[in-house]
Amino acid sequence: MAKIGDLLRIGRTFSFEFFPPRTDDAQLTLGRTIAELEPLRPAFVSVTYGAGGSTRARTRDVVTWVRRETNITPMAHLTCQGHTRTEITEILDHYRDADVHNIMALGGDLPSDPADIRPSDYTYASELVAEVNGYGYFSVGVAAHPEGHPRSPDRATDRRRLADKLRHADFAITQFFFEASHYVRLVDELMALGVDKPVLPGIMPVTNKGQIVRMAEMSGTALPSWLVERLNGTDDPHEIRKIGVDVATTLCEDLLAAGAPGLHFYTLNRSTATREIYANLNLSSMH
Ligand code: FAD
Repeated sequence: MAKIGDLLRIGRTFSFEFFPPRTDDAQLTLGRTIAELEPLRPAFVSVTYGAGGSTRARTRDVVTWVRRETNITPMAHLTCQGHTRTEITEILDHYRDADVHNIMALGGDLPSDPADIRPSDYTYASELVAEVNGYGYFSVGVAAHPEGHPRSPDRATDRRRLADKLRHADFAITQFFFEASHYVRLVDELMALGVDKPVLPGIMPVTNKGQIVRMAEMSGTALPSWLVERLNGTDDPHEIRKIGVDVATTLCEDLLAAGAPGLHFYTLNRSTATREIYANLNLSSMH
């Protein structure tokens, strides 16, 4: 199975992100979504991990299922906060033995309730990157925050820490954002720090107004006033989805024109918006 670092050396990658389903119904939805997206021939799909291990078994099961039952290359997300070294080793041993070659090494967030905080041998994603690299087996991705990570004192500090982390990884995937200039600035600032590893922009098509406001708040992403105005112009869910697809299509065009090494779509386990953007960009015919 392919390593994402190698795929990126060959050319652009187009990829999809899923979260592990909680219920039988959600599992069926994800199965259908993967079946609908497989014909688009994604370079890889990634599966998120509940910080502190809350989806440990579910993430592992989805990743292992994709590896065994489809022709798609999977990547497993893994967060290190709230894990001991022994737990992380068990998880990485499993992926190596299951022939899964790609790990997204993340810090994760501490639970809001102090009672839920578990012992941790790690504080930052860079420590997990070192652990994963120790296997000499995996391609390693890390998270990048174009508008700065919410816990960082300022953007320059965040960029230095990202540059230090990315030097030891194969590629980064960004938090979602709505203006290509954020991505271009991120790549330029990393380059100025001597880091030219591929940075895949993360694309979140807006499909629901309340949801995008909540997600933007949590991730430190600005909702630009032109987008808020467009979304506030309607309460019709179909119109909102249409605006979301339209905005994401333009963003993808701008990013590809700016030289992005690929696009990573946050699908929220649904295929329709991603398929529409693919069609608008004529991506199916490009690879
Ligand atoms: P880090 O790289 O550890 O950074 C966290 C903060 O610490 C930043 O402010 C950074 O500047 C700072 N920092 C880093 N190193 C140092 C240092 N040496 N000294 C002082 N400060 C330092 N979360 C999940 O729970 N599960 C997922 O599956 C998941 N997938 C994600 C996928 C993508 C593409 C992205 C962008 C985010 C994802 N997240 C996920 C969210 C992520 O876990 C949070 O944003 C988390 O708060 C930070 O993760 P990180 O890997 O960037 O952490």
